[in-house]
Amino acid sequence: MSISSAFDSGAIEVVSLADHRDIQLRIKADNASEFAQWFHFRLQGAEGLPVTLRFLNAGNSAYPEGWTDYQVVASYDRQHWFRIPSEYDGQVLSTQLTPAGNSLYFAYFEPYSDERHLDLIGFASVSDKVKLEPLGQTLDGRDMTLLRITDSDSKTSLAQKKNIWLTARQHPGETMAEWFMEGFLERLLDGDDPVSRVLLERCQFYVVPNMNPDGAARGNLRTNSVGANLNREWQAPSLERSPEVFLVRQRMLETGIDLFLDVHGDEALPYNFVAGCEGNPSYSPRLETLENAFKAAWIAASPDFQDRFGYGRDEPGQANLTLATNWVGEHFDCLAYTIEMPFKDNADLPDPVYGWNGERSKKLGESVMQPILAVLHQLR
Ligand code: ZN
Repeated sequence: MSISSAFDSGAIEVVSLADHRDIQLRIKADNASEFAQWFHFRLQGAEGLPVTLRFLNAGNSAYPEGWTDYQVVASYDRQHWFRIPSEYDGQVLSTQLTPAGNSLYFAYFEPYSDERHLDLIGFASVSDKVKLEPLGQTLDGRDMTLLRITDSDSKTSLAQKKNIWLTARQHPGETMAEWFMEGFLERLLDGDDPVSRVLLERCQFYVVPNMNPDGAARGNLRTNSVGANLNREWQAPSLERSPEVFLVRQRMLETGIDLFLDVHGDEALPYNFVAGCEGNPSYSPRLETLENAFKAAWIAASPDFQDRFGYGRDEPGQANLTLATNWVGEHFDCLAYTIEMPFKDNADLPDPVYGWNGERSKKLGESVMQPILAVLHQLR
């Protein structure tokens, strides 16, 4: 038997492989910070053996509540990822199965690889609706890429168009966020889709499908290569510590923003939900009306979205302005939402075989067009 993780987003520490009924592992911390939650590795040589994998330090991970009712994700072919029965006793996460093949991959959630990320940029960049803007590079030398998307033949002038920004995967282990972006981009660039056609006629979209390509490739949960949690860098980003935010924010200041969506995954809650700007100093009835209209339209568009469960609301004026959503909402006085998807499943529409996964994230990304369309006339 062997375990390996020397591949894109691979991460695990092997404590003991001596007994296939008690494979002992440790979840690895991000390369330059304490956050530990993401894992992705390959087990070979265990075909037909009843194996038990035990993650010894699950109780000391970044979000221990993420393991309650969580099922580990696995795949033989790296295309089809399914859930395997798992248990959490308050310290150790255990999972058991008898591999039907000699090579089996395990992950915290269905991975979204750097190659797939580059393919997504490539797919979008050949559309005549898309202008690819290289923003600069990360600390590991990866490209930060912005996709500017609109219908340049439309009757609406560029100055009249609404500027809509979407960013995803500031937290690199939240791979569902880039699956969401794939669904969003595929629908937005579908020339037969009437909603997309109207949106491209009236809006200019600015899309960053992966805000943290270094952290993603390194198999980090939450930080970039120097340990920066990018979603705490928005007030004072720097090229030395958080060039990803610095470069994107600089471009935002040039374009202005009428609507901002920042896509994430939540370890604990088994629901899709949004978190808004109610704690911002300049939050107003206008923004509250926009938030409620957006949520109502999304609930109508997709049974996978709901507004009963989510984060507690910030007290007035108490928002943390280092978060992207709060900073953008405050600076641009615009509708700004953090979108959260589950690592576990949507408890309103559970799927015991797959749980929440890449494909379902894509469908949710497609569905977000509808609430954008619904609030368009009220944005400014
Ligand atoms: Zn996040």
